[in-house]
Amino acid sequence: MTGHLRRVAAGATLFGATVFGAWTMFGAATAQQSPPQDKPWHTADGFRNLDGAPERDIPFSTYLEFSWQRLQWSAQAPAIPPGHVLPAADAVAALAAAGDADSITWIGHATFLIRLVGMTILTDPFLMPRASPANFIGPKRFVPPGIPIADLPPIDVIVLSHNHYDSLDERTLAALPNKDTTTVVVPLGLGATFVRLGFERVHEIDWFESAEIAAITVTALPARHWSRRGLADENRTLWMGAAIAGAGKRIYFSGDSAYAPYFADLGDRFGPFDYGIVGIGAYEPRAMMQYSHTTPEEAVDLALDMGAGTLIAMHWGTIQLGTEPPFEAPARFRARARARDLAADRVWVLAIGETRRLP
Ligand code: ZN
Repeated sequence: MTGHLRRVAAGATLFGATVFGAWTMFGAATAQQSPPQDKPWHTADGFRNLDGAPERDIPFSTYLEFSWQRLQWSAQAPAIPPGHVLPAADAVAALAAAGDADSITWIGHATFLIRLVGMTILTDPFLMPRASPANFIGPKRFVPPGIPIADLPPIDVIVLSHNHYDSLDERTLAALPNKDTTTVVVPLGLGATFVRLGFERVHEIDWFESAEIAAITVTALPARHWSRRGLADENRTLWMGAAIAGAGKRIYFSGDSAYAPYFADLGDRFGPFDYGIVGIGAYEPRAMMQYSHTTPEEAVDLALDMGAGTLIAMHWGTIQLGTEPPFEAPARFRARARARDLAADRVWVLAIGETRRLP
C-alpha cells in the first residue's frame, strides 16, 4: 500500500512540487477532470461515500428547530455529572505514571492520546474552547480538555479524520509543540492545510492506503460522513476512519461516521481490531444526523462489524452538537453492548482525562 503513498511534504525542497501536485489532483481548489474508475468514492469535484451518500436530504423545519436549540445551548452549559472530568493535575500525573506502556487517554470529544510501541499518537486534536473558525461563535465546549495543551507530551503522530471544526481545529494544531518532528496522516485534500500550519511531515492518503511511521502503520478506511469548512467546499476533501497498528496491537478509529452495511465487509478485510474507538454522540435529530453520525446502538454495531474486541466511546460529553440529552449516550451504548453479549469490561466509557493501559 505504501507504494501509493503521497508524501505531501517531506521537507522544504519538496514543498513546491509535491504539495502542488497533490493539491491539484485531489484538493479543494481544483476539480478532478475524470475521477479514477476504480475509485467510486472520487467524484468530478470531490468525494462521496461508498454507497453514493450523502444525499443529505434534511427538512428545512429540522434545520430551524436545530438552530433554535443551538441558540439555547449557547446560553447555558449542561450540568456535568460527577466524575465525568478528572482534575487536570490527576490526569497529568496518571499519564506520566503510565510511562511508555501502551495506553489510551481521553482528552475529550474525538481527541485521544494513544501510546503505542513507545510512540505518542494524537487523534483529531481539538482542545480549544470552541469548535468554530472564530473565538466568539460556534459550539462551545462545556468541559476543559482532559490534559491541558501545555502538558501534552511531544506528539509523534497525528491522525486526522476530516475537516469539520470539531476535528480539524487550526488553533489547537498551531499551538502544538514540535510540529517539525510530528508526522501527520490526513485524508486527501487536507495535506496543504497542515503544511501551512507548519507541519513538515505530512502523509495525505486515500482510503485503503497506508502510511508507515517507524513501527506504526496507519491505514485510511472509509467512513460514512462528509466534509465542509467554508461556504462552497462541501465534500471537496476526503473523510476517513483509520486502522492504527503497531507491534501486534490493532486499533480502529472510526472518525465521524454514520452506520452502513458495508462496515461488515471492511471488518472482514481489515479487522479484527483489539480496540474500536467509535462515536456515540451527536445523533439527534435523526432527520439530520442519520447521514453523518451513529446512534449509540449503531456505534456498537459498527465496532462489532469492524471486529473490535473492546469498544471505546468518543465524540460525546464535550460539546453539544446534537439535540439529544448530552449525557444520555453511555447508558444506551452499554445497553446495546449487553444485548450483543459483550462483557461489561469490553465497553470503555472513559472519563475526560482518564488514562487506561492497553493490555
Ligand atoms: Zn464531522
